[in-house]
Amino acid sequence: MCNEGKQMKYNIPFKTGQEINYISEAISKNNFQANGPFTKRVKAFFETRFQMGHVYLMHSCTTALEMAAILINAKAGDEVIMPAYTYVSTANAFALRGCKIVFVDVDSNFNIDLDAVEHAITNKTIAIVPVHYCGLSCDMDRLMDLANSHGIYVIEDAAQCIDAKYKDNFLGSIGHIGCISFHETKNIQCGEGGALIINDHSLLEYTDQLVDKGTNRKAFLKGQIQCYTWQTLGSSPLISEISAAFLLSQLESIDHVTQHRLALHNIYLSILGSIEEVICMDVPDYNTFNGHFFYILCQSAMGRTDLMNYLHDHQIQSLSHYEPLHQSVAGHNYGSFRGDDINTTKGAHRILRLPIYCQLTANDVTYICNTIKEFYHGK
Ligand SMILES: *Cc1c(COP(=O)(O)O)cnc(C)c1O
Repeated sequence: MCNEGKQMKYNIPFKTGQEINYISEAISKNNFQANGPFTKRVKAFFETRFQMGHVYLMHSCTTALEMAAILINAKAGDEVIMPAYTYVSTANAFALRGCKIVFVDVDSNFNIDLDAVEHAITNKTIAIVPVHYCGLSCDMDRLMDLANSHGIYVIEDAAQCIDAKYKDNFLGSIGHIGCISFHETKNIQCGEGGALIINDHSLLEYTDQLVDKGTNRKAFLKGQIQCYTWQTLGSSPLISEISAAFLLSQLESIDHVTQHRLALHNIYLSILGSIEEVICMDVPDYNTFNGHFFYILCQSAMGRTDLMNYLHDHQIQSLSHYEPLHQSVAGHNYGSFRGDDINTTKGAHRILRLPIYCQLTANDVTYICNTIKEFYHGK
């Protein structure tokens, strides 16, 4: 098997080729600021395709998480529970408000461990932030029951989850608030972009003011008041029509994106599943997967480095992932780990992510799998 010297990157951003047409149309409409016609079309798409009725398009998922922290009035002294295995944005959003970050262990799928969450809740806990790693989730029914019984918010870091479900509901639509990313490394992208999904309707009135610099401009635009004024703390997180146009063209290709990724995922599983030395990622029965990552677990950190180097020599880029946040400088300053670190550090040392993106072909994935086989079993 030969790949003709082709370099296989870990990721190449998705492009539809139609972005430029929508951007031209957006320019011709002379409405560049937020909430124009393309933003409305993206919102309508979210409503019909994902049953998400209250979506705010933002500069990034990081911004959406920061807005979520403001919306729930997170403040100094409050505790926020999240997995130690996540991206820095999840923790930053709440640390910026002065909260104490309570890191807990993950399960074997790198999702927040619900037994650990149960033990970590105190009377200072204001929110739990499940991070749906790879587009897969924890048992959301159990998490919602737990949070609701304590009167605690659930904010889903659904950054990686576009088009992925828990049972019948799309991830991001289950907690009180959901946050999705359209960064160029995600399945659907607009360079930098994100969405804030408001599922707890009691938060809507404040959200409308928060995203419009803390003013009642929405009522002004509807002609309900003569002028708009400063009502509360706010910011300016919404994207322009140029980004919304780019994003709409991407979203309209969502079926192709998800199907292609899942087809590659299945090839990985069918070939690598028979290699004893590695463990392939596992999709829980309750999830409908979006193929965001494909990863394997190597036997040790050293074994992983050897495999990465071997793949690199065969022009294949593979990646580890997060350094556990409780072991970072800021993690020490703004939080601490509660409970036992059974899976987090061990998993972080063993995970290896393999290339998966729309431009990658079935032959490419077969070549990658065979190269891994060769590494363990020789030619
Ligand atoms: C990508 C990602 C983010 C950040 O998203 P941006 O849109 O780049 O701000 C946050 N959390 C997780 C889990 C992510 O994967």
